[in-house]
Amino acid sequence: MTAGLVANALPSALILPALTRRQPQNLGRSCRWRTPSSDAVAVTFDDGPDVETLRTLDVLEHLGLRATFFALGSQLQSHPGIAKEIRTRGHELATHGYAHRHHLLTRPSAIRQDLDRAVEAHREVLDEAPRFFRPPYGQLALASVLEARRRGLEPVLWSTWGKEWVDTDDAAVLGRIGAGLRPGTILLLHDNDVSCPPGTGDRTRSLLRPIAGLLEARGLRGVALGELLCDRGRP
Ligand SMILES: [Zn+2]
Repeated sequence: MTAGLVANALPSALILPALTRRQPQNLGRSCRWRTPSSDAVAVTFDDGPDVETLRTLDVLEHLGLRATFFALGSQLQSHPGIAKEIRTRGHELATHGYAHRHHLLTRPSAIRQDLDRAVEAHREVLDEAPRFFRPPYGQLALASVLEARRRGLEPVLWSTWGKEWVDTDDAAVLGRIGAGLRPGTILLLHDNDVSCPPGTGDRTRSLLRPIAGLLEARGLRGVALGELLCDRGRP
């Protein structure tokens, strides 16, 4: 279950750029937080892509939302066409590792191997290297940080979630999400049941409309992480 083991005490500032100095080949892609006046909220989905991701793309298009999909390497290889469709429809793909391993329970050599396979799958399917990396369960070991840094990956967790994979009370999930929505928020969602209980993906898709309503009511836009975090066109 994704993030099911993550304690509520997780810090709210959950990007770790200082720990993952970019590799020289990535210097042209420098990222940093936008100013607090930004109206952007990053919408992110973990664990896919899966067959039901196609339905997610239709909902996102209908609602005018952009998103980042933190893909598992194993899922990319199982659904390469869907991964390409995500990008074709204007969204972003990042990596969630290859096999959804809990890094605090994984040997450094296995973390290294998992990230190697994840990056390789990303390159194989999408012909590009991933920029952002979200560790399964939101748990980073020292080896995760070092190995991510070696590959030019920027670890990104999240700043708010609805816990839709453990809470079937839609009002409670939306209340949790609504309490955390503000400029610069990174929202964690799951649009599939790959590592979550059955029905999670369907429930998430049904919640996207009210989530879009919350964003609109607060003058916020749902965007991909690259737009929230990166300095496109800035000096
Ligand atoms: Zn996950």
